[in-house]
Amino acid sequence: MVRCPKCAVEVDVDEDEVEEGEILTCPGCEAELEVVQIHPVNVNVISDEDEDEATEEVEAKDEVEDVLDQEEEDVE
Ligand SMILES: [Zn+2]
Repeated sequence: MVRCPKCAVEVDVDEDEVEEGEILTCPGCEAELEVVQIHPVNVNVISDEDEDEATEEVEAKDEVEDVLDQEEEDVE
């Protein structure tokens, strides 16, 4: 059993079945919890709000070509 770091609700985790890196969902606040340690189980909150220790993933915006301009001419 582990408590959600965010809302302290007990999350039902069987530490014999959980694996590191597994993503759990808190039943209380629905936060995503990543299992960072087992025996004992320790979890990290995966949140968009907490940017302190979160790995910053810079999403490069792919330049998407305008493929929408492919309207075929209606031939009557
Ligand atoms: Zn929670």
